[in-house]
Amino acid sequence: MKCENCTKAECSKKKKQDAADAELSVAQALEDGDEKSEFHRLADARIFLSDCLACGNCVTSEEGAKIFAQNQKAFFKVLSLNKKCDTSLHRLVVASVSPQSVPYFAAKFQLSVCEASKKICGFLKSLGVHHVFDTTIAADFSILETQRDFIQRFRRQTQDEHAFPMFASACPGWVQYAERVLGDLVTPHICTAKSPQQIMGSLVKSYFASQKNLAPDKIFHLAVAPCYDRKMEALREDYYTDLFNCRDVDCVLTSGEVMQIMEQRNISVKEIEEFPLENVFGGTTCQFVRHEGTSSDGYLAHVFRHAAKELFGTEVQEITYKTLKNKDFQEVCLEKDGETVLRFAAAYGFRNIQNMVLKLRKGKFHYHFVEVLACPGGCLNGKGQAQSADGKPERAQLQEMEALFTNVPVQSPENNPHIQELYTSWLEGEESQKSRETLHTKYVPSSHSTARVDMKW
Ligand code: SF4
Repeated sequence: MKCENCTKAECSKKKKQDAADAELSVAQALEDGDEKSEFHRLADARIFLSDCLACGNCVTSEEGAKIFAQNQKAFFKVLSLNKKCDTSLHRLVVASVSPQSVPYFAAKFQLSVCEASKKICGFLKSLGVHHVFDTTIAADFSILETQRDFIQRFRRQTQDEHAFPMFASACPGWVQYAERVLGDLVTPHICTAKSPQQIMGSLVKSYFASQKNLAPDKIFHLAVAPCYDRKMEALREDYYTDLFNCRDVDCVLTSGEVMQIMEQRNISVKEIEEFPLENVFGGTTCQFVRHEGTSSDGYLAHVFRHAAKELFGTEVQEITYKTLKNKDFQEVCLEKDGETVLRFAAAYGFRNIQNMVLKLRKGKFHYHFVEVLACPGGCLNGKGQAQSADGKPERAQLQEMEALFTNVPVQSPENNPHIQELYTSWLEGEESQKSRETLHTKYVPSSHSTARVDMKW
């Protein structure tokens, strides 16, 4: 339709802008190979802004600039300042390595996960990192606080319409999409527990800093993670302290970016000295452990077991997953006296998230808890490690990572001896205000939210 109210030049400019906005390439839209080919069959090469999945494949220019600042350069600048004579510029450099990154290095080095953790620790130390932490303890806290949130929601469900479904909060790709696109349809349902990366941020900049008698800004905290979404997460306002002008996590490098540094330096794995990962208490990790359930810390499995025991007195021996539409959409139920009392689901990848949201809008999504992850297959398939240089999924490598991860011994968060010690000495108790402020955050509709009245799904 011709616009009557603008000049021809403006009209043509607007048309160009509209065209640029509208013609996002399908090839960039979905991250999984299968999803991509299915999408190709469905649509003939065009999607519109109203179809946007906010999957993190594209970002605004402002965000792009901030993410760009989180790169090797920022990290090496700090390492190089540490070598200068001016000690006022020196910072203690610590790195937290995500448990989902270690299998990537194990597959690349052709080593076990435990051996690879020692090599990656040795490599980061050879660059000038002072401490390399195992972050399992942060995931332990995140799982325990998710369990606590679930029980509280269950008990107040008759007074709180937003209690269920409760969505896991550990994946920043999903959380960002919920805040930006879905808004308050979903945000009140997201568990408030921080993700493992950000709990590690609090542990490093609060607990560890005080143990070392250092101000938080005197520590540079690098996180090694499987995806780029973790960079965006580190930049959230909640994770910035005005007083010290610093963030809980100063820089995030993906596993692939760390591997790139190794390749640029032409260092072979044989040359790297082995060091065990450390913990924030000053000791070392004797054995690399993982959580039960999926490779993405198994929130579903832990919350399900805990809720079954706490609410219904049932000790779940083995969790039975029922595959629904595809392997990335599974269901777990607890029955009592012929009635389903707990209904949990795992929904991975935007194809399943899209279906879930459609049902939610129609009021037909009757789950108590959903472990939502943006990546099909979970965190081992993060875009920062499971893709080739041309952006294609590395399927063989992913399978290898999964096999390696499965061999890692399992430890439940309740059995971590340091957790209770930290609840007491650092957080003033499990239910304290300090614990709530330190381990939880708020997920709210983004002010940049586009309030998608034209959203097609
Ligand atoms: S599912 Fe993907 S985007 Fe989400 S935290 Fe894991 S690797 Fe990152």
